[in-house]
Amino acid sequence: MQTLFADVILPLPLPSTYTYRVPQEYNDTIAVGCRVIVQFGSKKIYSAIVRRLHETVPPYPAKYVLGLLDTTPLVSEQTLQFWEWLSAYYMCPVGDVMAVALPAAFRLASESTLSIHPEYSGALDGLSNHEQAIVMLLSEHPVMTPDDIAQALGIAKVMPIISGMVERGIVVLQEELHERFKPRTATWLSLAEPYHEEQACRELFDQMEKSSRTQKQLSVLLRFMQLTHFGQESIRKKELLDGQVSTSSLATLVKNGILVEEERSDSRLEQVDDSKLTPVGSIVLNEEQQAAYDYCRRDDTPAVTLLHGVTGSGKTEVYIRLIADTLAAGRQVLFLLPEIALTAQFINRLRRYFGSQVGVYHSRFSMSQRAEVWQHTAGEPDNRYNVLIGARSAIFLPFNDLGLVIVDEEHDSSFKQYEPSPRYHGRDTAIYLAHISGARVVLGSATPSIESMYNARNGKYGLATLRHRYGGGQLPEVLCVDMRDATRKKEVRGHFSQFLLDHIADAIASGNQVILFQNRRGFSPRLECDDCHYIPQCQNCDVSLVYHKATHSLRCHYCGYSIPIPTECPACHSTHLSMKGFGTERVEEDLSILFPNARIARMDLDSTTEKNRYTQMLSDFEERRIDILVGTQMVTKGLDFSHVSIVGILSADSLVSYPDFRSFERAFQQMTQVSGRAGRRDTRGTVIIQAFNPWHQAIRNVIDNDYEAMYSSQTAERRVFRYPPFSRIIDITLRHRDAETLNEAAALFANSLRQVFAQRVVGPVYPNVPRVRGLYLKKIMLRFDAGEPLSQAKNIILQLGEKLREEKSNRTIQIIYDVDPQ
Ligand code: ADP
Ligand code: ZN
Ligand code: ZN
Repeated sequence: MQTLFADVILPLPLPSTYTYRVPQEYNDTIAVGCRVIVQFGSKKIYSAIVRRLHETVPPYPAKYVLGLLDTTPLVSEQTLQFWEWLSAYYMCPVGDVMAVALPAAFRLASESTLSIHPEYSGALDGLSNHEQAIVMLLSEHPVMTPDDIAQALGIAKVMPIISGMVERGIVVLQEELHERFKPRTATWLSLAEPYHEEQACRELFDQMEKSSRTQKQLSVLLRFMQLTHFGQESIRKKELLDGQVSTSSLATLVKNGILVEEERSDSRLEQVDDSKLTPVGSIVLNEEQQAAYDYCRRDDTPAVTLLHGVTGSGKTEVYIRLIADTLAAGRQVLFLLPEIALTAQFINRLRRYFGSQVGVYHSRFSMSQRAEVWQHTAGEPDNRYNVLIGARSAIFLPFNDLGLVIVDEEHDSSFKQYEPSPRYHGRDTAIYLAHISGARVVLGSATPSIESMYNARNGKYGLATLRHRYGGGQLPEVLCVDMRDATRKKEVRGHFSQFLLDHIADAIASGNQVILFQNRRGFSPRLECDDCHYIPQCQNCDVSLVYHKATHSLRCHYCGYSIPIPTECPACHSTHLSMKGFGTERVEEDLSILFPNARIARMDLDSTTEKNRYTQMLSDFEERRIDILVGTQMVTKGLDFSHVSIVGILSADSLVSYPDFRSFERAFQQMTQVSGRAGRRDTRGTVIIQAFNPWHQAIRNVIDNDYEAMYSSQTAERRVFRYPPFSRIIDITLRHRDAETLNEAAALFANSLRQVFAQRVVGPVYPNVPRVRGLYLKKIMLRFDAGEPLSQAKNIILQLGEKLREEKSNRTIQIIYDVDPQ
């Protein structure tokens, strides 16, 4: 018999695969893409993925594979190649990709801690002896690691057993319990096996009809039959009881073995009723939409199309038609949205047409939900999700046959992941995924990124345009208040111009709603000493602490460090401390004084950390239980409300004055997006921008709704200063506890890079925040011309980085590569 070796990918930041020896008992079943259990390091155990199988004996004594978790591959060859592309492109270990790509439930490791699944009934039948032993052990000791269990039971190969139990929902990884798992089970009823026989069933009915004692039971049974297609399906007990049937007669039916009761964990995936779907054919596209739709489908249209459509132009309706075509061809659809735009409102809109074919995947889901969606994506066409909506990580789902990728709000910077590695761009990676899957791509936005528009203009992408709001609705009127002028004329109260206040008052008086947008950047409230101007700083990071009213504390937004509000200045002991800056909390507070009768809510990261708070707030606003919604970037995205007549942008200057080559583009996008929330089909909304510099070009472009002007001024500027799309950037950040070591290493690294890449290297420089979590940071930028091939360059950069760290003093330097930084 041959001896096989497996090169495996471990979910760790390792530079390459590792080779293990395959026990001969697995020879017939092991395959590329299967998970195996391996030991790595002196003791630790991990689930790894088989990348290659071969007979080449490695130059070191290979450890044995300890267990095989899958009999058919969990990950396809194509997916593995996709991971490898991502790893090469974004300059990160393929193990990092595996760690984000595979739901944690598939990545059991020896340090994972386990408990009994809160939804598990406790029934032991159907479990193997070992499984029963594990359940009993865990009921005595609620939290154990696989190692603990292996020791207690005296069995070595415990991981495959536990892994099977995790997948069947018998035990659960402890991490998931932290996600505040809510037990959810339901009692289900089904017809007992013997009565599935038609003959037996008829006899039962005859018998019950004859006796007067069983009339009540009969009516319950009839109702049951009615609801379950004559016993072919099961039904929730609650649903049957809702039909006003007798509880005691039902109990008798169960006792007599006619109906069977069963505790089932309610699937955490929502149940969808497919019987009332709206046919896609009922959407009648208008001329503009029809032209865009036709264009996206044409054979001679480039594989990627940019759909540039103003807010409310019906981009989603065009998507829906394209999705329907893809499904009709038996293929799958990936629909990417920024996390924050993934609202119930939107998901329901797609479910109306595609029902249970729609799956949702995002980071707010628990681990087992993610595993469930994963498994439902991989199935056969009739038995799987065919439309997957998700935030960026949905690109990792195991599609069988991807035919269409839609990236809505494609300009949104949150498609780029920064922490942790892999630092990938969801949109760009999705385009690559579509390319290898033979799928089409539609990128949609009212304010396309400069990069995408540039690609469309030079013919690399197709371009379709929707210029009008659907149904003749008008785009909002955009007005600008010159805050300097208003201040001079004393027409300002606090941070509000009288002009804006008057409009808010009018809107509320006439039963309309208001959205106020306050950018977070630079406006975080902080404490300052009136006498010496000292501002309390974080002890770990070079930033000011932010005032948090709710907890009466000052907190660091980079590391979480927090202190109670000091009563005197730590520098000069003055007791004259006052609050500076104005965040959303402050806006909310001031408003409640100015409009004591209005219902005001605030939407920002602090007010929506709880899982359902955000959804709740949205539906409160939609159902008009809120008059004024104050928020950060969160209010700018993807919301569709029909009663918003006023949108206020409180301080436009802060958006345009940030030192970054994208700030102009971003400011235009954010202001245009939030403006799009004003007015709907039959009423024209008003947007009021407050600015101290109302003549700033970006603000003028928003007022004129002139994307074109923004695009041409920005491309002209970026061409001159060699910014993307005219160049490609790789940012390198070095981190270390000791400033001097860091400085030396950064200079050394920049030098060695310069020897190869010459003037393409910029820096090193200190970034805006030069110290975070006690580590000093230094940045080097590499800028390549748009046409230069990069894969070789990336390899060289990585090698030089490794070489730098070979130096003993530099071994603890961390090097972070960020390709195409946002
Ligand atoms: P976008 O995604 O471009 O912001 P939507 O697709 O949300 O625009 O369309 C805005 C509104 O107009 C929605 O309420 C939508 O239902 C409606 N609408 C757009 N196109 C059509 C159409 N062809 N038929 C019926 N309603 C439409
Ligand atoms: Zn002071
Ligand atoms: Zn800090």
